[in-house]
Amino acid sequence: MNIPKTSYPRIIIIGGGFAGIALARKLSKQEVQVVLLDKHNYHTFQPLLYQVSTGGLEPDSIAYPIRKILKDFPNFHFRLAEVNEIDTTCNTIKTNIGDLKFDYLVVASGSKTNYFGNTEIEKHSMAMKTIPQSLNLRSLILENFEEALLTTDLHERIALMNFVIVGGGPTGVELAGALAEIKKGILPKDYPDLDTRLAQINIIQSGGCLLKGMSENASAKAEDFLEKLGVHVWKNVRVTNYDGKTVTTNSDLTFDTATVVWAAGVQGATIKGLDAKDFVTRGNRILVNQCNQVKGFEHIFAIGDIACMATDEFPNGLPMMAQPAIQQGQQLGSNILKLIEEKPMKPFEYKDKGAMATVGRNKAVVDLKTLRFQGVFAWYVWMFVHLFFLIGFRNRMVVFVNWVYNYIRFDREARLIIRPFKKKFKL
Ligand SMILES: Cc1cc2nc3c(=O)[nH]c(=O)nc-3n(C[C@H](O)[C@H](O)[C@H](O)COP(=O)(O)OP(=O)(O)OC[C@H]3O[C@@H](n4cnc5c(N)ncnc54)[C@H](O)[C@@H]3O)c2cc1C
Repeated sequence: MNIPKTSYPRIIIIGGGFAGIALARKLSKQEVQVVLLDKHNYHTFQPLLYQVSTGGLEPDSIAYPIRKILKDFPNFHFRLAEVNEIDTTCNTIKTNIGDLKFDYLVVASGSKTNYFGNTEIEKHSMAMKTIPQSLNLRSLILENFEEALLTTDLHERIALMNFVIVGGGPTGVELAGALAEIKKGILPKDYPDLDTRLAQINIIQSGGCLLKGMSENASAKAEDFLEKLGVHVWKNVRVTNYDGKTVTTNSDLTFDTATVVWAAGVQGATIKGLDAKDFVTRGNRILVNQCNQVKGFEHIFAIGDIACMATDEFPNGLPMMAQPAIQQGQQLGSNILKLIEEKPMKPFEYKDKGAMATVGRNKAVVDLKTLRFQGVFAWYVWMFVHLFFLIGFRNRMVVFVNWVYNYIRFDREARLIIRPFKKKFKL
């Protein structure tokens, strides 16, 4: 891997997401060697992926080169690599570019889409966890409209314009809202020959409310916002299959559709060597103690989505969100330094800053610790918070300018089929 030898302890971080970057930044000017590995050479700001999928933002405005984030730190090394295995006996990681020994290892590999074992759904539906997946979805949505314009078969046209989003969490809600805005603001302008009333947006939630985990008010308001935008909200309905043509559910309800977006769950992106039952718990997450140490090891840690740290308030693990990941990364930085100096580590305490979701123009819901509000002000708060946490001045400016432009012009100019999506099935 061509990593220089050093007398400093070597800390390997797997994953340049929110958790890995926060940790690397914390360790950047210390007397340690940090090696960060990621299968992408950029950090992805996942909360805005849905805007890439719906043509609101270009992908490069929500991605940032990992090398640039840490370019000024002398003991920092980045390698573009996929880690395939962790050998906990020899303290070595095995990657597609070679093996590397560590003194301390931090797994920050995040999460991946959970299809709950349904291979048909996995094969035919669209996920939205990475930038390439979001670009695939963007292409598919636009290709479906192009096809709908050409087909003479009404049933096929309806299916091409029927969108089914499975999962009523923030991702599903935000995507449904954005698609509804495309139907209202873009379709009539771009496709005057198409009966845009045929475009339907469905969001299916297995539980009794949207945005589970947020307040009842937020959930009800989000549903109200979506319905006002013309989205069909189906609650207490569980999707059982999708064969590339029809979505079946546990009720009589079926949907003929060319587009299913699976936003119904994620699971830890475990790596061989730390994926055995001894280490992994609910949601395929690695069980860690209050100092993020993996069971049985003093020098191996897990942080962010991949880590399951149970607390009194969150007995099933902290939420798989950006804030716990960032806070754990920052705190682990201090703790590893303490461990090196043989001082006691400080147990992690999660500072819950609340949750928020946007449904569309002037429509968002915000639950802070002591304050809950919805509507236009919530939308401004949502935008401010997302701009603040985006990495890089250029990205913040580009996103801000895009949002202002889209707001004034009711537009989404990134509706481009740059890399056509090859469907694995035909209606
Ligand atoms: C569509 C979407 C919307 C979201 N919206 C919100 C939101 O509004 N608010 C919020 O708080 N949270 C949101 N989240 C969740 C939030 O993005 C995650 O909780 C957060 O990214 C977790 O950070 P992490 O560092 O643990 O993992 P990630 O950010 O997922 O980073 C993991 C990194 O590890 C790398 N990696 C994985 N496996 C390997 C391997 N084997 N080898 C090398 N590299 C590897 C990946 O490439 C990735 O860069 C959203 C998530 C998604 C998908």
